[in-house]
Amino acid sequence: MIKNSYDFESEKIKELIKERGASRVGLQLPEGLKTVATDIAAEISQETGAEVIISGNSCYGACDVDEKLERTVDLLFHFGHSEYNSFGKAFHSKKRFVRKENYQKKVFFIELRSSVDIKPVVEKAAAELKGDSVGLVATLQHVHGLNEAKMLLARFGKKAVIGKSNSLKYEGQVLGCEFSSAAMVPCEEILFIGSGSFHPVGLALYIGKRVIAADPFTMQIGIYEAEGLRKKRYVAIERALDAKSFGIIIGMKSGQSNLSGAIALRRKAVEKGLNAYLITMDEIREDKLLAFKVDAFVNTACPRLAEDFIHFKKPVLSAREFEVVLGERSWECIF
Ligand code: SF4
Repeated sequence: MIKNSYDFESEKIKELIKERGASRVGLQLPEGLKTVATDIAAEISQETGAEVIISGNSCYGACDVDEKLERTVDLLFHFGHSEYNSFGKAFHSKKRFVRKENYQKKVFFIELRSSVDIKPVVEKAAAELKGDSVGLVATLQHVHGLNEAKMLLARFGKKAVIGKSNSLKYEGQVLGCEFSSAAMVPCEEILFIGSGSFHPVGLALYIGKRVIAADPFTMQIGIYEAEGLRKKRYVAIERALDAKSFGIIIGMKSGQSNLSGAIALRRKAVEKGLNAYLITMDEIREDKLLAFKVDAFVNTACPRLAEDFIHFKKPVLSAREFEVVLGERSWECIF
């Protein structure tokens, strides 16, 4: 089954179901692809006889396997993300690493590789590159095209480097919270191949280089300057400097929980004479935050929403940014 240019690997899925004798299977798709969930469910149940249950909950990453559904079914197919080689220490607890061993028995990651040709958008992006050397990265859906993009860029006189990731499966792969494949490479700027702004914003913020984002589906090119994005974060910290009370958010999505980190931050805040409260959340939305009588928040869950937080009425800081407020970290060492 190939829908929206993604390979859903339905033959492999049906074979696995038959091989394992699974009578009840789960499907978990990311937000943008839930529209095809019922088509996949219909095909699977017709051809294998298995009962199919679709996860209706939000899903943004491999860190976000629907554990309740996993316990209900014989096999769970999680679409759009790849397994971590190891879980990033900054955002994922050890508990999740242990659970990953159990996942291997019943959770299968269907990567949804795209068949869209990335060459036209890479050619378009090449015109925007200022330097001679570029770090080449992509989301999982396009990572198989990076070597071709590298050869194409050479024709434009650009030396492209595809770096190894500390924890992700493929060279050049990035997540909204994992940019090590870009951090390792000597380059003047970054070319990101994929959709949306979360990855290029995170790359520019944390790597500190200019990022050119090329979307092979829309052919749009976006430019993200590190300095401008970092200034926005400094403004958020400044707004929180006068805050007397903080809500420390603990993510309850399966791989995002950092309970010990959140508790440590709360204790530090109390030692500095601030009021601080631990708050659990599945999804961090402004309407939910507004219910709490605190002056500012600290996010210890998924970091990819930093750009969204700029528009929230109350400041939402990362743990590192909060340490600046506490006087334990210098402004130069946030990223
Ligand atoms: S923590 Fe956020 S950015 Fe990282 S994998 Fe999960 S959803 Fe993606």
